[in-house]
Amino acid sequence: MNNMTQNRRDFIKKLGLGASVLSLENAPNLFVPPTKKLNVALVGLGRYAGYLAEGIAVSEFCKVAGIVTGTPAKAVEWEKKYNIPKKNIYNYQNFDEIANNPDIDVVYVVLPNAMHKEYAIRAAKAGKHVIVEKPLATTAKDCLEIIEACQKAKVQLAVGYRLHFEPYNMEMMRLGQQKVFGQVRLVQASLGYSVDYGDGGDWHVKKALSGGGPLQNLGVYCIQAARYILGEEPTAVWAQFGPKLNPKVFKEVEESIHWQMEFKSGAVATCSTTYNCGIDRLFASAENGTFELSPAISYGPFIGKTSKGMMNFPTTNQQQVQMDAFAKYLLNNQPFPDHISGIEGYKDVKVIDAIYQSAETGRRIVI
Ligand code: NAD
Repeated sequence: MNNMTQNRRDFIKKLGLGASVLSLENAPNLFVPPTKKLNVALVGLGRYAGYLAEGIAVSEFCKVAGIVTGTPAKAVEWEKKYNIPKKNIYNYQNFDEIANNPDIDVVYVVLPNAMHKEYAIRAAKAGKHVIVEKPLATTAKDCLEIIEACQKAKVQLAVGYRLHFEPYNMEMMRLGQQKVFGQVRLVQASLGYSVDYGDGGDWHVKKALSGGGPLQNLGVYCIQAARYILGEEPTAVWAQFGPKLNPKVFKEVEESIHWQMEFKSGAVATCSTTYNCGIDRLFASAENGTFELSPAISYGPFIGKTSKGMMNFPTTNQQQVQMDAFAKYLLNNQPFPDHISGIEGYKDVKVIDAIYQSAETGRRIVI
């Protein structure tokens, strides 16, 4: 083993990545109502940044305080809409100057997947806390580099895992992890959309920007869900690419992929993700009953039932609730809990790496 491999292993060991750390905790223990709002700068003003900004605008503890964009027209539009001071508007070239701006507390990276690493590391070096959209990065190695950079800069890091604050999904975590219906034996998790990527120019189907097809974008939720229902880590995966019905568009990335995950308890998860049809579903079968959601992962409203009857929880503004929860940690100087931390993002991407390896080699991959 060379020195670099040993150092990386020591680093992973220090982070305690061997242990299962998912927990149901979703708010700091000692919350002191803040005297100021958390000032958030969004990097990349695309579709999802728009949803986040709307959630932040109605949140209790956050403000859209800054933006980073390469499109001057968007800067003008957002400046007006969210009343953003000109001094808090950056482009991709002058972004590092954010280090000198005390009016920004946290940078939220909402760029194409393969750009997450560069901007998360630049934000950390600027001394800002960092939130990164899923997937944290496109390889487990890149995730570790982000985690290392944030640790070195002594800033906090979270992945924008909105479902950790969503009542139906929190119920799935509770039912599974607390073995309310006994040990879960089987999880089925699927997320797919029928998406028209036109001539194939969109970043989602360009491997250098996306890191892959629906597995990176949607399948990551299925991995997450299986892990948070079971409260344990997969030990092996077996994966198969689906057929390419539209090979002109899906030249560089998969159009769909199906995989199985094995867990130490004996539980198995079977998962599918696709860009060629719609599916949004979580199902768990335990020793003494079943529990399920469909829709389960999108923005709701969700429908859930168990073998004892229907679930009944409020429909929430997921982006608002997530941002208020993140703000409570940061404004109280409390560490993010492991289940939304960078380590959590790393664990999912490590499984993504193994799934691609399995689909490419046709072999079962031990993680
Ligand atoms: P999008 O295409 O709508 O937005 C991407 C933004 O990045 C655009 O503003 C674009 O101008 C900018 N950009 C900068 N450099 C670029 C480049 N070289 N190529 C392409 N765009 C570039 O994408 P999106 O749907 O907003 O996704 C952004 C991130 O948010 C992704 O990581 C995605 O996985 C994540 N996302 C999360 C959720 C969620 O529910 N949590 C939902 C959608 C997307």
